[in-house]
Amino acid sequence: MTTLLLSHPQCLEHQTPFGHPERADRLRIITHVLEHERFSDLARDEAPLAEVAQLVRVHPPEFVERLQNATPFVGLVHVDGDTTLSPGSFDAALRSAGGAVFAVDEVMKGKASNAFVATRPPGHHAETATAMGFCLFNNVAVAARHAQAVHGAERVAIMDFDVHHGNGTQDIFWSDPSVMYLSTHEMPLYPGTGALNETGAYNQIVNAPLRAGDGSDPFREAFEVAIMPRLRAFKPDLVLISAGFDAHERDPLANLNLTEADFAWATKKLMEAADEMAGGRVVSLLEGGYDLEGLGRSVGAHVMALMRG
Ligand SMILES: [Zn+2]
Repeated sequence: MTTLLLSHPQCLEHQTPFGHPERADRLRIITHVLEHERFSDLARDEAPLAEVAQLVRVHPPEFVERLQNATPFVGLVHVDGDTTLSPGSFDAALRSAGGAVFAVDEVMKGKASNAFVATRPPGHHAETATAMGFCLFNNVAVAARHAQAVHGAERVAIMDFDVHHGNGTQDIFWSDPSVMYLSTHEMPLYPGTGALNETGAYNQIVNAPLRAGDGSDPFREAFEVAIMPRLRAFKPDLVLISAGFDAHERDPLANLNLTEADFAWATKKLMEAADEMAGGRVVSLLEGGYDLEGLGRSVGAHVMALMRG
């Protein structure tokens, strides 16, 4: 059984203003790293475009239309202070969500043991009807709902180790007992949510905030103490990962001090739990990570762990 890697060149066509951290070079470095021969066993495919019917399990149809209609023919349009649409953005966003959906299909059908979706824009800040924080559609939420609607997954767990709290994902699943959202993140930091006492309508939201300056030990302790027991008790049929790598010590947007070894460790922990209760089914989606060297090394370590390397 193989690890599936999904991406698409159209994800390079989502342009952001000069100097913006969420830029096409992020995907270029990831592609470069994963071209190395130690990743030659990856099954590789192109991320398809998401269908509107898949998006509207999470987002109102008017929101999808609004983003499409706001997409400019030239130049950039701001949808919030740090989120923009360029001519290629809508299709890139459809690739990001579509890659998430296709990865779920392949893993739920047993055609791949797990998958990494290397696409942009990211998704975990996007709420049902609000694009924000570099995110247009909430890709991981679309993936979770697809697994439930099409593949009969009863319980889906979403682990988000991006350094920012996934306010969008938390908001979307706040009142849904069939989806557990778990997050480690720096706090205080954008977007301001993710306190310990934000636990969801069914106590199925698990926030484990970390403090600026925290590194490997506090992160691993939070993972072992706050995250893994709750994940195991939930007994998910599928484990989704919002894989942001901006908690890396080199990242310019935050102040946690993780290294690529920590991301590999966390990935293996999640795979162990998935092996026990979810038939090993893990689908990981790229979120943040803004230092190109730190991002490249971290994605390499994460994907190598998914390959059981
Ligand atoms: Zn982030």
